Parts: sequence; structure tokens; C-alpha cells
Amino acid sequence: MSDTIFHKIIRREIPADIVYEDEHLIAFRDVAPQAPVHVLFVPKETIPTLDDLQPSQAELAGRLMLAAANHAREQGLAEDGYRVVMNCNADGGQTVFQMHLHLLAGAPLGSFGVRK
Ligand code: 5GP
Repeated sequence: MSDTIFHKIIRREIPADIVYEDEHLIAFRDVAPQAPVHVLFVPKETIPTLDDLQPSQAELAGRLMLAAANHAREQGLAEDGYRVVMNCNADGGQTVFQMHLHLLAGAPLGSFGVRK
């Protein structure tokens, strides 16, 4: 069950609005945006959840953060601000089991926490 919809996007088997790609990761717009800007940063290496991340993959995790920050800066979003989120497993709200970072921006973002 390691193959996900994000692997299909990486392999170009299904379309996505890709905004950045390098040898380590890909970034594309979320199909159901929760903010005016909602981009997902996904490692190409299979890592189902943050709970599966290994110390040897620490650099890759940093690359996801830097790619999100660079994208926000390049799009002129950094000064107003943005949020990055990584959901892990069921209570975290994870629905696609290939680790990914959400970048949310473009408007003041609401608070988050326990679903009411
Ligand atoms: P999670 O809930 O796992 O943290 O986030 C998964 C995200 O992937 C959701 O925000 C969802 O809208 C997005 N998503 C699910 N399927 C697709 C797809 O086929 N294409 C794109 N671009 N986003 C998707």
C-alpha cells in the first residue's frame, strides 16, 4: 500500500498543477484548496507518514521546509505570512499516505486544533 495518488502525480500518471520540482521533491497545488494558496510539497522517496521518517532522511525533511519557504518568498507571500502543516495518521487528519507538507497562504488563516 505504499503507492499513493501522489506517487502517480510524481510519475505523471495523473495530472497536477506542478509549481516546483527537483530531484528530491515535487510541489503541486492541492485539488481542494483550504486557502487561496494551498501547495503540497512531497518527497519523491516513499515515506508514508512523519512517523516513518528516519534520521537518515533529516536532510530531505529540511528540503521540504526550504522549498515551501522559497515558494512563499518567490510568490510574495512571506511578508504577510503563511502556515505549513504536516498531518500524521488518523487523528492528525492524514488522508494520503505519502508524507507531505501543506503550504497555506493568501489570507489570514483561522485557528486550528481539535475539531468542534
Ligand atoms: P492530508 O489530509 O493527507 O494531510 O492531505 C492530503 C491532501 O491531498 C488534501 O488536502 C487533498 O485535497 C489533496 N489531494 C488528494 N488527492 C489529490 C489529487 O489527486 N491531486 C491533488 N493535487 N491533491 C490531492
